[in-house]
Amino acid sequence: MEGFEPPPPGLVLTTCCMPELPEVEVTRLSFADRIAGALVQEVRLGKPLRWPLGCAPQQLQGLRVQAVRRRGKYLLVDLQPRGLLLMHLGMSGSLSFDRHLPPAGRHDHFELHTSEGILRLHDPRRFGAVVYADSQDDPVAGKLLARLGVEPLGEDFEVEAFWRGLKARQTVVKQVLLGGELVVGVGNIYASEALFRAGIRPTLRAHQISRARAARLHAAIREVLAEAVRQGGSTLRDFSNALGESGHFQLGARVYDREGLPCLDCDAPIKRIVQQQRSTYYCPRCQTF
Ligand SMILES: [Zn+2]
Repeated sequence: MEGFEPPPPGLVLTTCCMPELPEVEVTRLSFADRIAGALVQEVRLGKPLRWPLGCAPQQLQGLRVQAVRRRGKYLLVDLQPRGLLLMHLGMSGSLSFDRHLPPAGRHDHFELHTSEGILRLHDPRRFGAVVYADSQDDPVAGKLLARLGVEPLGEDFEVEAFWRGLKARQTVVKQVLLGGELVVGVGNIYASEALFRAGIRPTLRAHQISRARAARLHAAIREVLAEAVRQGGSTLRDFSNALGESGHFQLGARVYDREGLPCLDCDAPIKRIVQQQRSTYYCPRCQTF
């Protein structure tokens, strides 16, 4: 990712809320280079996570970490000569990686000890998971990854297909974004922000969106997520200030969590509505489509 400098070693990315795609991507960037090539020496498990590991921990000994990729909110740790680990942070998970970590605490439920350091999953609510699969094509991995939409920051996310996907859906646009079938990783905060930037009312039905508006929304989704990843990098670099304070990175939110405050573009008070038990924020004057 352009513009991202790796944070100092040993940092723990702490989130107060559910990690979204940008947080997962920044987590990946924080350790992927350092763990690449490491030899797995031992796996330690804590309490059960959302899904079982799917193999005996000893089976991972002697494998080598090849690379760490991301698909949606999963981190994929490729192993050599076979297999991969699919890691998900769930509602409250965070990963740390360093040569030396303090002794495991009661909320540390997975540790991969390697020749380059320990990768540790801290997850108080235990909705996260680490799952072994023999390959990305096998049923275990397929079950988790198969239904994910395209990556918003990748080349496969293109305007025409996005618009066709919107056209085919009668549900309100915000639900389509959160659903993750058209495009992954647009969580609650980023959905409000992207719709604001595109000038689209969150209650509009997806099929009513014009091609031109779909193109604006497409660009807005990429902008908002890419900015959040960049912000995440700087948050990690200034970590002594940010520790425990920022759930989501200090995204320059223009509407999210700004109910009643003046719109930064037109001064109209920002409105909050609830859609499927989640808050949505929008500007009634700027978002008219
Ligand atoms: Zn406005």
